[in-house]
Amino acid sequence: MNDLAALRSAYSKHRAEEEEAKVPEASVVMPNSMTGSAAGAAHSGRGQESSQFATPAFSATGEEPLGLYIHIPFCARKCPYCDFNTYARLEPLYEAYTQALCREMGRWAARLAGRTVHTVFLGGGTPTVLNSGQLKCILELVHDRFALAADVEISCEANPGIEDRGQFALLHSLGVNRLSMGVQSFQEEELGFLGRIHDAEDALRAYEAAVDAGFANINLDFMFGLPRQSVTAWHDSLDKALDLAPRHVSLYSLIVEPDTPLAHWVETGQTPAPDDDMAAEMYETAMSRMGEAGYEQYEVSNWARGAGYVCRHNLLYWRNQEWVGVGPGAHSHMRLPSGLRGESIGDLPFKSGDACDGAERSGSPAVAVRWSNRKGVQGYIKRVGAGESPVDFHEGITAEVSMGETMMLGLRLVREGVPLARFEAMHGQPLADAFGPSLDRLQEEGLLESDGERVRLTGKGLLVGNRVFSEFIA
Ligand code: SF4
Repeated sequence: MNDLAALRSAYSKHRAEEEEAKVPEASVVMPNSMTGSAAGAAHSGRGQESSQFATPAFSATGEEPLGLYIHIPFCARKCPYCDFNTYARLEPLYEAYTQALCREMGRWAARLAGRTVHTVFLGGGTPTVLNSGQLKCILELVHDRFALAADVEISCEANPGIEDRGQFALLHSLGVNRLSMGVQSFQEEELGFLGRIHDAEDALRAYEAAVDAGFANINLDFMFGLPRQSVTAWHDSLDKALDLAPRHVSLYSLIVEPDTPLAHWVETGQTPAPDDDMAAEMYETAMSRMGEAGYEQYEVSNWARGAGYVCRHNLLYWRNQEWVGVGPGAHSHMRLPSGLRGESIGDLPFKSGDACDGAERSGSPAVAVRWSNRKGVQGYIKRVGAGESPVDFHEGITAEVSMGETMMLGLRLVREGVPLARFEAMHGQPLADAFGPSLDRLQEEGLLESDGERVRLTGKGLLVGNRVFSEFIA
């Protein structure tokens, strides 16, 4: 991957969600990198700590936080750039899917007895395509069967263009306290190119409906680096977003994912490939504008305005903590021993506290495990309905790999970086003992900095992110 390709990758929503929210299938999390002028700008103003807020610590109770990700694999229409595990035209399966999902969630509620769930993320897909009875079934089960923290964050993704007023009011009444909307652009031409089902007016209406429903914590997603997108159009979309003053904004670069209609269009010359230099310029100017508007960039693609509005669920991923994913294709990550109830982890193909296959093969005990469910919706419904496990992939993570992942993910948090105390608490050894020679070398080269409390990338380090991250891959 060249530098510009790496830049595109670093700000891609798909990459971000694969590597963070839905987390990796591979045994090593391949890092993103920030390069070029955008990275330099990303670093500007990082000399001092946040003037507005700090990202939350472990949890209000001091307990290790746990997240629950609930996958809704349905969309009204499949966008041509999207390679997520989502499907259109499966309305006849919504009810059976909801029943299967609730069944899997029920199993997890039993396995997680004694653990507090700090964040819940209803993602997809477009969860709001489900009807009110189906959403109610899922969210009531969350409240009834899981031990939720008093300050639990419950996020739900939504897309404009779906009937929203009733759904948003219902979600709010069911305890959802954070809404994340895929607006992507306020330019009609760009929305058409992206195959979105909504226009700019729909997006404004949806935002208003969310505010009217009582949501104070709203995220808006936007995409930049589209083929033929002008800097002026990008600024116009950004300005319109900032006029709404949402508490959270995510900005992602469009990336051409293999085997998508967009990839076919680019390969056959129907559309030009995205321009990396243009994307870098858009990212750079976006950072300035977001800062001027009072937003703090706490992660490469994410900005929040005001205390308490960072996405706490996504922080779990960047901090390499624990979560359970339910639904087809959902990924999970737990440390071992996991604290799950019972000798074995339900019907999963490994035992709590034991090394599992992947790690055993490498000759080292596992300190954590990740697993994922099978992807197809019908197969998932069938397996869960038959009382079988939907898991079709699992691997043990060695101490060495886990420490490397903590570094690669944590360094994405541009201000927080990797706190030394948290690293030691997680891995049982000081960061300096784990990576001393690498840290020394990278600091001598001016790529990493430490204030005695944390390690994070310098501006120069951001320019060569892959080079820095590669130091931590076992
Ligand atoms: S709405 Fe989102 S998840 Fe659904 S197809 Fe489009 S990009 Fe993919």
